[in-house]
Amino acid sequence: MSYQAISRKYRPQKFDEVIGQSHICATLKNAIQSNRISHAYLFTGSRGIGKTSTARILAKSLNCLNPQGFDPCNDCQNCKEITGGRSMDVLEIDGASNRGIDQIRDLRENVKYPPSNSKYRIFIIDEVHMLTKEAFNALLKTLEEPPSHVIFIFATTEPLKIPPTIISRCQRYDFHRIPIREIVAHLKNIAAREQVEISAEILTLLAKKAEGGMRDAESLLDQLIAFSGQKVSTEEAKKVLSLIDYEYYIKIGNKILENDSEALLRIAGSVIDEGINLTEFFSGFSEHFRNLLIARSTGSLEMLDMPEDMKKRYVEESHKWETGDLLRLIKMITEAELGLKTSINHRLHIEFALLRMSAMPQTVTVADILKSLNNPSYLSKTTQVRETIDLFNLPSKETGSVPSEPKIEPAAKSKSRDIDSDREPIEHKQKTQPPVDAEIPNIEIEQVKKLWTTIIEKVAATNPSVASFLSMGQPETIEGKKLTIMFRNGASFHLKSIQSKAELIEACIANLCGHSLKIKCVEKQAEPSDTETENSVNAITQKVIDIFGGEIIPT
Ligand SMILES: [Zn+2]
Repeated sequence: MSYQAISRKYRPQKFDEVIGQSHICATLKNAIQSNRISHAYLFTGSRGIGKTSTARILAKSLNCLNPQGFDPCNDCQNCKEITGGRSMDVLEIDGASNRGIDQIRDLRENVKYPPSNSKYRIFIIDEVHMLTKEAFNALLKTLEEPPSHVIFIFATTEPLKIPPTIISRCQRYDFHRIPIREIVAHLKNIAAREQVEISAEILTLLAKKAEGGMRDAESLLDQLIAFSGQKVSTEEAKKVLSLIDYEYYIKIGNKILENDSEALLRIAGSVIDEGINLTEFFSGFSEHFRNLLIARSTGSLEMLDMPEDMKKRYVEESHKWETGDLLRLIKMITEAELGLKTSINHRLHIEFALLRMSAMPQTVTVADILKSLNNPSYLSKTTQVRETIDLFNLPSKETGSVPSEPKIEPAAKSKSRDIDSDREPIEHKQKTQPPVDAEIPNIEIEQVKKLWTTIIEKVAATNPSVASFLSMGQPETIEGKKLTIMFRNGASFHLKSIQSKAELIEACIANLCGHSLKIKCVEKQAEPSDTETENSVNAITQKVIDIFGGEIIPT
């Protein structure tokens, strides 16, 4: 027997087999039974959640020669032809490739003919939002006075792109994303029928990855079976689909609790090395803390959408956390996820995010403060936590010295606090440690070059656009306290933006290199081969740029 994709093989053939859309199927069944059939239906919702399948079942029910109540028999000639896509009376049209006025004119001609061997002529137009404006206008004329034997079923993922005049002539049905547990139950059923051994945990992760889409979930299962055969091991599955399991997040969470920076850096490295999608990583991570929050604050397992043994794990784990900390961590992850788009260095971004979480001072309750009045050591953990972030800020680990707050000039210092508002200076340490400038008398340009990406990343945390301009430059020389940054010719517009934020950049440099340097941005001069005419053109262009603002895009 030839191979058939799971999504085709297990495509629903009756209303009750459509998963997660019972609200729609119930209405359609009633309509069929009471013979109140509309001339136009609009099915909306994300991809792979049953719109086209439901359209076909509806078409079959209406044209079946031997209907079983509201369901089609799936056995008569009409049903078989529709299932096989061969019916002359049920036409499936792809809106994306038939979007023009000519195709819709053809369709309008076609609509006139009566059905050949059934009750209705049914036109299923998928991705109908792709039609052109003219095509919609032509379609509207048919919808205004549809022949009694014609039914349209439109399906779309983007209902907002459909003209209101069309929508108002349709019965609209909004399909929902399918709940994880329903996808899992369906996949379990398929796995049993295919005689494939696979754990509920993997099926849950797989359903999550498919984000509520049944077709995607089925394709992922197909992919797994193709790789592993009849027995899918948990380890293999995680590898093939880059799935991140609950235990992995629990492990990271515990490392955050333990302030284990080294382990967190290792985890960040492995996330990058294994090519895990960072958006998926962060959204899974925030869901992990959300699950903990639910388990912690309600103690109830009902709201958690996961296998039973995992629910128990979450309730166990949730006792380690304070509600306030969980909320703050979720906020931090959301920020990290948003920052991904502007991040230049993803490894650094995830390292920074994880370290920031572990450095977060823990929520102190009033009860804790009262206890600490009697026992001052009670709150010492909070102070301990703050110090870990300095590991990340100072590249002085190899010198063996204890990482400490980098020395910055007072002006720059206040700036650096803006950049990292979670951080508080540890005053007593500053007094006892000699200034860093004294330890390392001269900073070499190579050191700045090495830290350049890190500096840009740090600037980006406060001002992403300045950071992206800055990334176009290269540190060139250090003379005394002056760092010259070289930019390509024509970047003078950027130079102004950068120079206006010099304090921010200088604070970041001071913070990361332990030296306060003044920056000077220099535009690379044109090659000596340039003729005088070109120079005078440049001067005029420059004038224009200065007056109107703008930039020269090299051709
Ligand atoms: Zn039939």
